[in-house]
Amino acid sequence: MLKIGHTVTHHGKRVGDPSITIPVVEELETVPGIPLHEGDVDYYSREYPLESQAVTETASREWVWTLYDKETIEDRRTHDRLNRPIVAASRNTGDIEPTAEPVPGKDITQEVKQKARELGFGEVGITRFDMRYAYQLKKSWVKFPHAICLAYEQDYEPTQSAPSREAEGPHFGTYRIMGAVGLDLADYIRSLGYHAQVHSPNDNSAAYIPMFVEAGLGQLGANGQLLSPHFGSRARLMIITTDAPVKYDAPIDYGIHKFCQVCQVCVQRCPARALMKEKIWYRGVEKNKLIYKRCRPVMARYLGCGICMKVCPIQKFGMKAVMEHYVETGEVLGKGTHNLEGYTLEDKGYFGPGELPTFDPEVFDMPHGRVEDVLFEDLKEKLMTNQVPEGSEGDHVLREFAHKVKEYISTHDERWEKYGEEA
Ligand code: SF4
Ligand code: SF4
Repeated sequence: MLKIGHTVTHHGKRVGDPSITIPVVEELETVPGIPLHEGDVDYYSREYPLESQAVTETASREWVWTLYDKETIEDRRTHDRLNRPIVAASRNTGDIEPTAEPVPGKDITQEVKQKARELGFGEVGITRFDMRYAYQLKKSWVKFPHAICLAYEQDYEPTQSAPSREAEGPHFGTYRIMGAVGLDLADYIRSLGYHAQVHSPNDNSAAYIPMFVEAGLGQLGANGQLLSPHFGSRARLMIITTDAPVKYDAPIDYGIHKFCQVCQVCVQRCPARALMKEKIWYRGVEKNKLIYKRCRPVMARYLGCGICMKVCPIQKFGMKAVMEHYVETGEVLGKGTHNLEGYTLEDKGYFGPGELPTFDPEVFDMPHGRVEDVLFEDLKEKLMTNQVPEGSEGDHVLREFAHKVKEYISTHDERWEKYGEEA
């Protein structure tokens, strides 16, 4: 039996469920939220502002479509068709006027939280919208100062089979449901007399997790995902910003920052070896960093992968059960079992605890950066290797380059509209 340092009381999973108590053993205590150096976060956000991968990684986002089979393309097109109106409806929500007069001086925090939970959001917390995590492209779009952080639970059962088509369905389906009910919640806030701007889960305005951590809704896991109390990393995230009078929540130490260093299941099970064992200081925050160029090719080939979500004990058993087990045994619930750690990759078969697939190096040959930059690198390579001769043949190569760049840039807005964050 390990010594408990403190306990965290959290609401029950569904509206009306009794609250839960999560014990945090003394040896796992660090800080509420995540260790960070404010000055460094300021510095990096000012000098190296964040930008969405939908802008900075367009080359790989185009490339993944060449790997999808017919069925996957069809699934993604279907999601896009169903989701597009929801994403489009979110975009101008900041301009919609409230539909009632507010009650002067009335704090509406509890009403908004209650309504959010009734609409199906499993977690809701409030903090300031921290512009330091906003994407460059979206900074001027964000209108209101307070961030209502909303997490929707992705279905348990199908997620346990990730990577699979069964797990991909609820992944996209959850985004559509929460996107739609998020619009309803914004209507509700307007009916209380205030503005509400919907930041769609498929058209992100910022790196959302730091604000969820600040609002006390969980802590950052070694898998790069928010570990929320009831459903761990099986949480899909969105934000609504508002000018309503609301109270901010505070970050919480659930013990996760240190627990992940003990657990390491996602790190050890990632087929791409894309998760780092040790934490590093990155942009002013101490965290385990995900290696995008290792993860993305595997995600693209194996139905969104999601193994790091699936094998997380907090996702599978909930934080209370995992932390209680740790208090009693000093061990990670489910670690080393096929039930938690096993997974199947379509063309490679089943991998149990301690077993990992291997890949040919070419699997990770992925274009990086923006499409136009990749095209320019390609042209430079041709110039350096004398593949651009003098005269009309060389002119043709240059014209072809200009044509491709123009074509890409002219259709960029269309693609952004179409695929948003998920492209
Ligand atoms: S999605 Fe798959 S490849 Fe990417 S980090 Fe998670 S387990 Fe690794
Ligand atoms: S699997 Fe373990 S190490 Fe990875 S995020 Fe979950 S708790 Fe943390």
